[in-house]
Amino acid sequence: MVSGGVVAATGHPDTLRANYPQATEEHVGGVIAPPPVNAHTHLDMSAYDFAALPYFRWIPEVVIAGRERRGPQAALAGADTLARLGTGGVGDIVWSPEVMDALLGRDDLSGTLYFEVLGPVPAQADERFRVMREQVEGWRRRERPADDPRGALRVGLSPHTPFNLSSRLMRLVMDYAAGEGLPTQIHVAEHPAEVELFASGGGPIWDNRFAPLYPPTFAEVIGRVPEAGLTPVRYLDDLGVLAARPTLVHMVNVTQDDIARVARAGCAAVTCPRSNANLECGTFPWTAFAAAGVEVALGTDSVASGETLDVRGEVEFARTLYPGLDPRVIVRAAVKGGHRVLGTRAPFIRRGEEWRDEYLW
Ligand SMILES: [Zn+2]
Repeated sequence: MVSGGVVAATGHPDTLRANYPQATEEHVGGVIAPPPVNAHTHLDMSAYDFAALPYFRWIPEVVIAGRERRGPQAALAGADTLARLGTGGVGDIVWSPEVMDALLGRDDLSGTLYFEVLGPVPAQADERFRVMREQVEGWRRRERPADDPRGALRVGLSPHTPFNLSSRLMRLVMDYAAGEGLPTQIHVAEHPAEVELFASGGGPIWDNRFAPLYPPTFAEVIGRVPEAGLTPVRYLDDLGVLAARPTLVHMVNVTQDDIARVARAGCAAVTCPRSNANLECGTFPWTAFAAAGVEVALGTDSVASGETLDVRGEVEFARTLYPGLDPRVIVRAAVKGGHRVLGTRAPFIRRGEEWRDEYLW
């Protein structure tokens, strides 16, 4: 209940009706909650056109074909869009040092900027890690703490995927992040081909790689022989990566055992429902994750696959995708789940606080 621009009371509608019979009731036709958080996106791809194409066509025809459009200018335009939408915070995957520099200068952005790391050749792991650490140490001087009035803005790390880093580089990055308390995000089990790669060492991901940038076999990348039952999640768990509690993005093509491992480790998952549907990757098994007690957050992914940076679109789409899921679970993921992942604070809507229009969506 709102009176004179201030929250006068909160609670179940029946209780409010009983306690305040004189209040006039207005059906808002939406959600009353703090603004939702976009826990996974790629702002530097904001100048791309949206295209719904199967994953293995989308990468060459959209991501690679449009790479000239990627960069700080697009990232700043994406940040403008988030500000205009009143987004509650962002988890952004940052591909280049120039983009990190640009986004760290934004006073109207809060959340975590995860610097992306790739490197499948084990012999290059130590040098790649050394360069990355130097860059990250410089950026961390520009972080904003949780009590900053503009909101927290942190630097994190994103080892791209379990298959695009050598096991040595993955360990170096994750051990460093754990030691320094840096938040991390990893894309995991987005497409069924990733499961095939860990089980067989081959398939479309391996066939489509830039061969000169990779060692001769996938076993050399991951430091073990692929085998039936070796899933991307089990690989990360065996490597000690899950113990550092990275946030796992996508998690579409997973087994019940994978979900149990993630729950045991206490990792959160970020789902990008529109992107997964548009790229024909499958459907995140939300009900199974919820049953296992895994914290779930929502992200748009880039505009190239998710269509917009508005995470409300994900909430709306998730409602049609999971008709059996309590809508409050989806809204909770978009707000609280997002803040948990980013380590930021959700504003409280409670008695005596100022009412803000962005609480209605
Ligand atoms: Zn992504």
